[in-house]
Amino acid sequence: MKKVVIVGGGQAAASLAAKLRSEGFEGSIAMICKEEHPPYQRPPLSKKYLLGEMSLDRLYLRPLSFYDDQNITLHLGKAVHRIDPKKKQIMFGEDILGYDDLVLALGSEPRQLPVQIGGQLRNVFTVRDLADADSLAPKFNESKHVLIIGGGYIGLEAAAVAAQRGLNVTLVEMADRILKRVAAPQTSDYFRALHISRGVAIKEGINLEKLTGNGGVANVAKFSDGTALQIDFVIVGVGIFPVTDIAAEAGLSISDGITVNALGQTSDPSIWAVGDCCSFPYKDGELRLESVPHAIDQAELVAQNIMGAKVDYVPKPWFWSDQYEVKLQITGLNTGFDEVITRKTSDASVSFWYYKSNHLIAVDAMNDPRAYMVAKRLIESGKTADVSLVADPEADLKGLLKV
Ligand SMILES: Cc1cc2nc3c(=O)[nH]c(=O)nc-3n(C[C@H](O)[C@H](O)[C@H](O)COP(=O)(O)OP(=O)(O)OC[C@H]3O[C@@H](n4cnc5c(N)ncnc54)[C@H](O)[C@@H]3O)c2cc1C
Repeated sequence: MKKVVIVGGGQAAASLAAKLRSEGFEGSIAMICKEEHPPYQRPPLSKKYLLGEMSLDRLYLRPLSFYDDQNITLHLGKAVHRIDPKKKQIMFGEDILGYDDLVLALGSEPRQLPVQIGGQLRNVFTVRDLADADSLAPKFNESKHVLIIGGGYIGLEAAAVAAQRGLNVTLVEMADRILKRVAAPQTSDYFRALHISRGVAIKEGINLEKLTGNGGVANVAKFSDGTALQIDFVIVGVGIFPVTDIAAEAGLSISDGITVNALGQTSDPSIWAVGDCCSFPYKDGELRLESVPHAIDQAELVAQNIMGAKVDYVPKPWFWSDQYEVKLQITGLNTGFDEVITRKTSDASVSFWYYKSNHLIAVDAMNDPRAYMVAKRLIESGKTADVSLVADPEADLKGLLKV
């Protein structure tokens, strides 16, 4: 009987295991994860869970009984420290497990603030896992002023939670605008205005120089523009890096993540990689995506390939972010855009349509699920949308889908 071993217990691992069973895989499935919890959703950690509006059991992707029922063996709270590709074995603690197919679903880790500027201080937090969210949550009750480093989606979502909890919030972004790495200036302007309207102070184009304090706790932040701020705690959202350590030590090929081919195989054909930790072929190069939809789609495809399907992965990128009452939905990849068209259908609903050489490549839709849905279908089918039609709030976008 074939043995599949999955290292990691996040979204990709859970989707892969479930898909193997739903496709009729009868061999053994073991999942080994560093965290103590069965697979859970990460997005609420910077949204509803952090806000205290979601319970722990709703965070879990499946009830524990699912894994029993499906004969999926969970080894929780165990870190795999070594892969031996020759013997087809992995090691965790004192245990050794053999595999026919090994899947690396190792996820990513948050970048930390360097120790020289205070990254080791006890009241400096990142938000990656449940333990992070649980140690951060009490701070919202006992503090007045939070400093957020980084104006990406995690930083902005944390800022929204803190503002909703009534804290004084200051967000500092090193680049000249928030969301610069991922979105057009129009989207940055939209979210800047939203946060400012909720009392968040946004400082762009400045750096944190140093956190200072007493007894291992930061209470003053000094910035590159010479200003300083009294703070009670700090949330750092300055990006993530893919986890590749055990893959690299096993001699697997690494680029921006564990390199896989279109099927999801690493440089060793018995070892696969899925989700945040891997980099896959895309157009003329490689791509690594950090999103739940990608983790699910790629993991499900790899499950089928383990069972012999031999289907190439074609990503259909989409993503979302919740801040206050605004739901942002993103479809496509905006890399290389040269034009952005604004569509505003009401005060609350606006979308930004990204074009490259007159072709629609991505859309950011704020509280506009209809624009998002039409754009997603257009982009996935390789179609475009006339810019004058998109800009006209009266125009019926659904008509575009019939062309
Ligand atoms: C706060 C937050 C908010 C987010 N919001 C959104 C959102 O709104 N929309 C969206 O699409 N995406 C969002 N994401 C991203 C999304 O959660 C990730 O892309 C997704 O979880 C990736 O799944 P994964 O299985 O690849 O990795 P992960 O979910 O990171 O799981 C990897 C697991 O592997 C474990 N592991 C690593 N190394 C080992 C080892 N050696 N041995 C054993 N176990 C190991 C890790 O501890 C971890 O539990 C968010 C992420 C975070 C942190």
